[in-house]
Amino acid sequence: MDRLVALLPFVPYRFRPDRKPPYLRPWMVPQSLWGRNLRALLSKEDWDRIRKDAYARAGSRCRVCGGRGPKWPVEADEGWHYDDTTRVQTLKGVIALCPDCHAVRHWGKTTSAGKQDEALAWMMEVNGWTHAEASRCADDAMRQWHERSGYNDWRCDISWATTQYGVTPIQTGEAIAQDRNQSFVQKAREEYGSQSGNVSYIQHLLYE
Ligand SMILES: [Zn+2]
Repeated sequence: MDRLVALLPFVPYRFRPDRKPPYLRPWMVPQSLWGRNLRALLSKEDWDRIRKDAYARAGSRCRVCGGRGPKWPVEADEGWHYDDTTRVQTLKGVIALCPDCHAVRHWGKTTSAGKQDEALAWMMEVNGWTHAEASRCADDAMRQWHERSGYNDWRCDISWATTQYGVTPIQTGEAIAQDRNQSFVQKAREEYGSQSGNVSYIQHLLYE
């Protein structure tokens, strides 16, 4: 029994007896922080080392569902904590997720790409939820994203990476992050502009 307990950290969340749903839900990045991630702030070599370490620790299987994608098995997901009082986004770790679970986490990007129905179905499957439960969770996430995106003074703390891996942010990282932010916002505007739904989301992007 002790041996089985010792294996728990390797078991995908969905199958762990000590966890309860939701195992998977949207976790959206406020608009002013789009593009500000390890890919932008670190050298390619350092980012590759961190994400490949996450894949290796998970046996190239999704930490949430245990699955693998058809074209590539897993992608790296940065786990951010948000302090809504101090408005600091803090990196807590990097984990491997299959493309389907990753799409749920980045709900706004998935929605703007027109893949909302697939992502909603996957959230129902993984959490054992009804359509109404999954929809409510997605709506809550969107509302929370909207509130957080109303502020432009969010700061980003990646000391988890600098401490755990001894890496140093590159000097051009700040400029790269700002460039990416602008291009992501532009892309979202274009994609949403071609859709009829998500009116409040469009308004937020275009007019605030
Ligand atoms: Zn998965």
